[in-house]
Amino acid sequence: MKVMKFGGTSVGKPERMHHIVNLVNQQQEPAIVVLSALSGTTNALVEIGDFIAKGDRGMAKHSIDKLEAHYQDFISKLVQKPEALAKAKAIVAEHFEFLNIILRISFSEALNKDILAQGELLSTKLFCVYLEEQGISHMLLPALEFMTIDHYDEPQIGSIKIKLGQLIKQHADKKLFVTQGYICRNARGEVDNLKRGGSDYSASLIAAAINASVCEIWTDIDGMHNNDPRIVKKTVPVEQMSFDEAAELAYFGAKILHPASIWPAQTYNIPVKLLNTMEPQAKGTLITEKAGSVGVKAVAAKDNIIAIHIKSSRMLLAYGFLRKIFEIFEKYRTSIDMITTSEVAVSLTIDNDANLKEICKELEPFGTIEVDENQTIISVVGNEIAKTEDMVKKLFGSILGIPVRMVSYGGSPHNISLLVPAAYKTQILQQLNKGMFGLD
Ligand code: ADP
Ligand code: ASP
Ligand code: MG
Repeated sequence: MKVMKFGGTSVGKPERMHHIVNLVNQQQEPAIVVLSALSGTTNALVEIGDFIAKGDRGMAKHSIDKLEAHYQDFISKLVQKPEALAKAKAIVAEHFEFLNIILRISFSEALNKDILAQGELLSTKLFCVYLEEQGISHMLLPALEFMTIDHYDEPQIGSIKIKLGQLIKQHADKKLFVTQGYICRNARGEVDNLKRGGSDYSASLIAAAINASVCEIWTDIDGMHNNDPRIVKKTVPVEQMSFDEAAELAYFGAKILHPASIWPAQTYNIPVKLLNTMEPQAKGTLITEKAGSVGVKAVAAKDNIIAIHIKSSRMLLAYGFLRKIFEIFEKYRTSIDMITTSEVAVSLTIDNDANLKEICKELEPFGTIEVDENQTIISVVGNEIAKTEDMVKKLFGSILGIPVRMVSYGGSPHNISLLVPAAYKTQILQQLNKGMFGLD
């Protein structure tokens, strides 16, 4: 059995949904189709939640009505038969009624997660109505019945495996299953999610849980490109890369994959393919244990990074100093991305500012603290790049004139990371495209 995940743009228009039903229907192998919300829906739901949180119910109502009109238009083009249209209308009515009820309830974080879940619930149900209209046998597997996270928001792969296995077994005659990406249930039993872009993570977890033959991530581009196509004009797809390389790129900002989406597939050794829904014949990117080649594959940028600089004369030769510093970050459940040290100072970066004030306060007894916000991590990723001849020369040669704030080299043999002020991101990505890939 394989997993096929389709992102927001792949399901965002009625004709796209028709197209992916075609794609799915051509498969020989049984498949679990994982769907995102229609493009723009999760952003709209975030906006609705924000308005309700601020007590601006008028604006929330306006956004709900606008979104509902979009769905009414969508379903009128999705299905043709009156019975199918009636079913689709009932689904849209049910979910928008829910949003309108929420308008009258006092806001809570748990309620916000319920709001955010509506997108994937709608897309999968409407997809199934269309499958039914087309006479394609299928089964909807509700993600909220098997996708769970623990107290630390970590997916419970063991229990996902058991519950999903049971659900599939109950419908052993079916070859096509449909489920929601992104949404899950947390340790309190509430509706929750795997964070923005989380449908990739759902797909990888499902692939791991069912020991899939492949986890296909269908999106709006023909695979992982060598650079960020939103920023750099001339980018090219990478045909093959290792799990390690893909994980570094995903973690360090390549939006095509959710930051945590590689580890489940890697742990269970499931090949991942990145494919283009609009161009299904294109090769895309194959991600397996094998890197395919040595050397630089791609660069990525991770935004909204905060650098914290701790200067302390007491650090000199003091063992246990770093442990005490790290304990503070652990206490506030804030992970550190980059770190560099000298004898009198340590610089590190975080991307989660939720507890920045508290962290800085607790760091104060250790020395002078400086905080630089608005930084970007630029990661140059490739199999064994550190060993690649002339790599460092080429890298630094191509970014002359950029004020590099930190460098991380050697932590992984596949990654060299640089910290630069966010204002230099576009320039550095362009210069690297020319200097490292010869693309202008
Ligand atoms: P989906 O809705 O299918 O999940 P996303 O928008 O999350 O799609 O991810 C695909 C987008 O990721 C592409 O359209 C592209 O703009 C962006 N992207 C950023 N970096 C890369 C990269 N290195 N390679 C390919 N796409 C990238
Ligand atoms: N719909 C969710 C989002 O927009 C999850 C996803 O698309 O992967 O973040
Ligand atoms: Mg995505």
